[in-house]
This record gives sequence, structure tokens and C-alpha cells, in this order.
Amino acid sequence: MLQLCHLCAVRQGLHVGNTVGVSDGEECYICHGLMLRLNDIFMLVEDAVKGYEFRSFLIGATLPQDMLEREDEVRAKLKVRGIESIKSSITRELGMMLSSKGYRVDYERPDVDIRLDLISMDVNVRARPIYLLARYRKSIRGLKQKGYDNSIESIVRGWIAKEFKARDARFLWVGGEDKDSLVVGEGRPFFIKVVDAKKRSGYADRFSSDGVDVTIVREVDGFPRQIKFINRVRLYLECSDPSIMDKVRAVMAYDGADVTVRFIEDGRYIAKRMHVVDARYNAEEDVLELDIIIDGGFTVKRFAEGLDTEPSMKDLFGDVALKYFDVLEVKIVTS
Ligand SMILES: [Zn+2]
Repeated sequence: MLQLCHLCAVRQGLHVGNTVGVSDGEECYICHGLMLRLNDIFMLVEDAVKGYEFRSFLIGATLPQDMLEREDEVRAKLKVRGIESIKSSITRELGMMLSSKGYRVDYERPDVDIRLDLISMDVNVRARPIYLLARYRKSIRGLKQKGYDNSIESIVRGWIAKEFKARDARFLWVGGEDKDSLVVGEGRPFFIKVVDAKKRSGYADRFSSDGVDVTIVREVDGFPRQIKFINRVRLYLECSDPSIMDKVRAVMAYDGADVTVRFIEDGRYIAKRMHVVDARYNAEEDVLELDIIIDGGFTVKRFAEGLDTEPSMKDLFGDVALKYFDVLEVKIVTS
């Protein structure tokens, strides 16, 4: 006679009697005693989620293939459909145990996703990513934006990892500046994805280090697919032309003050607007300060160097050379 444990028999909708006998664990034809070890397995789960801050969870399991096959075989042989599969029975039982500790199951957006491998008995926990809209200001020159070392990215990643007890952080930048640029005012917005955070509330929303100030504005649902933004930028230009302000005024008067600059990329023109809003010329130091508003994606360096750019900075202002530029404001228009 077929021997099944109580839980495996009930799951087939069988009444113990002439078709099956109730075995005591190990002899169960389907689970070989697994169903009787759920309490021990739950201890593995509890251990794996220890340290994670969460309210909701989802639990999934991988079972040995032969176990699933034996259940199918029993159902075929006894001509029963069964009430639920051994897999969903296990995850439901473990889920109920975890719920009894004050957590709740969430199929859509669980704080933690628990993956139980019942072949290796490994439990893998992943926290739902936290997406943040943040801003940074930069008050030192010589620090690049991106990169794993010595960059705004690496500084912010280090802070996020510590503050959120996170495994990693990924970034979506809303434009970028030069290594030598400062970012002042409210700072440049950017998005952070916090990967596998053990802490998800009560984190600090401000951080300062090495000339970089970061403020978390709010949590968001994800990285935006498309971001439109404009920048207000101050160019510091070397210039010894005493009549430079006439040229600047001519550009400011030009076509509603909007100059369309075409950047050639892969044989295509990409048009970006530039608008001169203010200018000051220091003749003693030969420096022209030019405040411009530019569309996101307007590359200041290419414009200054005249690389596949029409018109270039020299086309508009004559013999000027970019020393560096600072970012005064970055405004998201739509996202
Ligand atoms: Zn069983």
C-alpha cells in the first residue's frame, strides 16, 4: 500500500483508508519526510531574514524535481487532482509561520523576496530596491561625477551602503558636469537605486563629505524613463578682446536670445538651445563670465572646443577659451 505522510495525504484530498496508509515521515512516498521538517526549515528562513527591516514578504521555493514527479505520479495513479501542489503547500505553510510573527504576504511589492532552495537548503533574501530622488552640490574642483573611485558616484555609493546597510547602489544622472566644475545652488538632481537594503526607514536624508553635499529629496517608484531638464551654467572664458561685450550683446539680442546649437552625432544633428542671460567682463583679468541656460544634453565642452558643433563658441564670441564652468541650477522640466 502507498505510504504518505498526513500532510501529503490531505493535500491529495485523500481519506486515509484503503488506498493509502499514513506513514511517519521518512517513509512518505512523495516528500520523504520533508513536510514534517517544516519547522526546522522555517528556522532557516528566520535566520536568513534576520537583520532585514521589512513588513511584507513573498516566499518562493525550489523543490527537487523527483519530488514533484512523485506527486504527479500519485495523482495519476489514484486519479485525483489534489487540492494544492506540494510546492505551494510548503510556501503557504512557511508564509503562515512568518505571518504569525507579524509580517504579511505581499505578492506585488514585498519588502523582501525570500527564495528557498530545498535541494541545497539555501535561503536567499533580496530586499525590494529603494529608489530615491536626490540632489548633490559640489564645492571642490577636480572631482569627477562617475566612476568607482574618487568620484561623486563612489562617495555617494559608500554612504548609501552604510546608511541603508545596502549591498550596492546604482545611479541615473540628470546630466553631468566637468571634473573641474562646481555645482552650486540647490544642486544637481539625480536618482539612486538602493540595492538590497537591510534598512528601509529612518535613514538620514543628508550627507556631506569631501566637498560633496547630498540631500535625499524623496523616494520614487523607479528610475524615470525620460527626463527633460535645463541647466543654468556659468562659463569662465579667457578673453582679451576689449569689444567682447558687443559680441555678447549681439548674441543676447539674437532671435529672442535663443541660439540653437546643433551637435552632430552619428551623422545626425541634435539641436539644443542656448540662452545667454548674463555676462560680465573683467578686462584686467581677461575673464568673461557668461551665464547661460542650456537644454539638457547640451555639451559645454564640445561647444567650447567646436567639435562637430554649429555654431561653436568661437563662431559666436570670437577668440575666447573656456577655463572651466560651474553649474548654477539644474531644473527637471518633465520626467
Ligand atoms: Zn509527505
